[in-house]
Amino acid sequence: MHRDPDADAMGSSLGWASYLLRRGHDVTVISPTDYAQNLRWLPGADSVLVYEDAPMKKHCKQLIQEATLICCLDFSALSRLKDLGKLVQEAPGIKMLVDHHLEPELFADPDFMFWDTQAAATAQLVYDLIKILDGSAPDAAAPDAAPFDVPMSECLYAGIMTDTGSFRHGNTTPEVHLAVADLMRSGLDISRVHRLIFDNSPLSRLQLLGHVLSEKLHVLPEYRTAYMTLTADELIQYQSSIGDTDGIVNYGLQVEDVVMSALFIERKGEIKISFRSAGDFSVRDLAFTYFSGGGHRNASGGRTQLTLAETIEQFLSILPEYQLRLQAVQ
Ligand code: 5GP
Ligand code: MN
Repeated sequence: MHRDPDADAMGSSLGWASYLLRRGHDVTVISPTDYAQNLRWLPGADSVLVYEDAPMKKHCKQLIQEATLICCLDFSALSRLKDLGKLVQEAPGIKMLVDHHLEPELFADPDFMFWDTQAAATAQLVYDLIKILDGSAPDAAAPDAAPFDVPMSECLYAGIMTDTGSFRHGNTTPEVHLAVADLMRSGLDISRVHRLIFDNSPLSRLQLLGHVLSEKLHVLPEYRTAYMTLTADELIQYQSSIGDTDGIVNYGLQVEDVVMSALFIERKGEIKISFRSAGDFSVRDLAFTYFSGGGHRNASGGRTQLTLAETIEQFLSILPEYQLRLQAVQ
């Protein structure tokens, strides 16, 4: 899965791993970096190896080197793996890709690519893949072989729910609802998943959100754009840990007439940027062209090695280029 994994990266990986385990394979799930506290409850998360944890590095390297099959989920550019990218690239195993991002990097084996940029979530693709594979499995007709059990359904539902913005973004197709209906038949408790993901914040995270909304949210009506900034000092002041800033960028879009929102965070010696947009304005193109990033049309991210002030200056300087497109959004 990609660095700083979100619920789709983690949920799709764990759901897929759980399927492979059930089919008798020897599976290890590796995350390049640590991940948010509200994903730790996901079934199987306790066995995820975090590559950047110093004691794990050697073990992860060996596993990747020896793997017959390396399953890459929820990313399609090896740079999204941080230092792990080079290891995966050089490993002899078959590389399989399950993803819905737009980046055109082709590192996976062509026969092992399950890549659909129209898919709402990687977890949706894992659902589809399991349906296809299970239909041809030797024990498909066995009564205990229902493809999705509750733990697997929780993982996949977490990914689909978050990547569709709880079923309100334009990527919420009939197929999404049909997949979820099928997962619910396994006994999945959707309220529990929603609560454990969204209503599970330390108080300091809500206070950080309050601070950003009252002090750090800027609206530029002429560009129908809102942006927010967070300095390293503010993250320390609010005891922010990984994942605590997820979702803050979405608040910019709640301002009337705003169709693009950006959040700039000073973290680990670089500026991490999150973009969100409404309608057909592509923040993916903007992130790709100016901020070494990518993602989806309405949700993308990138980073710079500049200071926070320089990054904002760059962002403000490119807005005129996008003004007509921002104004045209319905
Ligand atoms: P977020 O704002 O939640 O970090 O990311 C939103 C979307 O943009 C996700 O689909 C994520 O995969 C993508 N994204 C975020 N940061 C980067 C980046 O640095 N590079 C690329 N290529 N995609 C990114
Ligand atoms: Mn995803």
